[in-house]
Amino acid sequence: MSRTTPAIQAEGLTKNYGDKAALAGFDLTVPAGTVHGLLGPNGAGKTTAVRILATLLRLEGGRAQVAGLDLARDAALIRHRIGLVGQYAAVDEILGARQNLYLFGRLYHLSRADARRRAEELLERFDLAEAATKPVGQFSGGMRRRLDMACGLILSPRVLFLDEPTTGLDPRGRGEVWDCVRDLVAGGTSVLLTTQYLDEADQLADRVSVIDHGKVVAEGTPGELKARLGGDRLDVVVHDESQVERTAAVMARTTGNEPVTDTERRLVSVAVTDRVRALSEVVRALGEEGIAAEDLALRRPTLDEVFLQLTK
Ligand code: ATP
Repeated sequence: MSRTTPAIQAEGLTKNYGDKAALAGFDLTVPAGTVHGLLGPNGAGKTTAVRILATLLRLEGGRAQVAGLDLARDAALIRHRIGLVGQYAAVDEILGARQNLYLFGRLYHLSRADARRRAEELLERFDLAEAATKPVGQFSGGMRRRLDMACGLILSPRVLFLDEPTTGLDPRGRGEVWDCVRDLVAGGTSVLLTTQYLDEADQLADRVSVIDHGKVVAEGTPGELKARLGGDRLDVVVHDESQVERTAAVMARTTGNEPVTDTERRLVSVAVTDRVRALSEVVRALGEEGIAAEDLALRRPTLDEVFLQLTK
């Protein structure tokens, strides 16, 4: 596999469960050495796509190459070139990180010496050396997930599938996992990441595919996807909850777009194309209606807003 061969290239993948299509023509290209985020609402087909590409589910329709090999023909070889980190690796809670990694190495048919060496390398790399003998049952969430990732990397895979790597972690644990992913990618590993946290995709992914009903509905860098939503957002916070609805009506009329409201925060937010003009027109219209704004802000949309727009 040369440096320019994509880590993953999939075209028209299909998968049906009975008469329900879990994947309905799924396309994906992940250039080598990059992180690709796969986003989608529950049931969109993310796990199905990952399981097919990781050779755990049989390819039904379409074709794919993973780590330079053909998925239909070379599944057994692909397994030696990929790693899969799901919610929890099957580690022993009583043993420490070192012994768990050693056992995983043996499971992957490394010699005793190689398994020992690989365990030490991974302990160092995932910042687990100090906890090498501590029972895994006593690990923090972040440490546990770092060990899960280390287990998926025993064979130095070129392509790593990370399925929701930070679900349930606190901000510190998430930061630790993010640092590990960045390190891996700096070392040349390609990553396909599914996540339910859009800020995670924003932080980590070079490109993102939004998937809905088994198909990619948008693809691009996080910045491109935000730009595609149509420029900026104008947020207005009013003094009084009772003014939220009237404010939304004024903003809809002035901008021609449908605002989103959050009554509890007294917030009305709307997409705007010409930011300065929209700002001055909204201010004027609110003034005419006798509505006083407590705060006004122009900002870029978040990936969450892009996502909701694309999958609503
Ligand atoms: P989530 O975020 O909830 O994990 P997902 O995007 O990973 O969702 P998939 O798990 O790939 O979605 O599921 C895609 C569709 O296929 C869903 O409608 C799901 O109900 C269906 N599905 C998945 N696995 C099976 C199965 N083994 N048998 C029947 N239907 C299934």
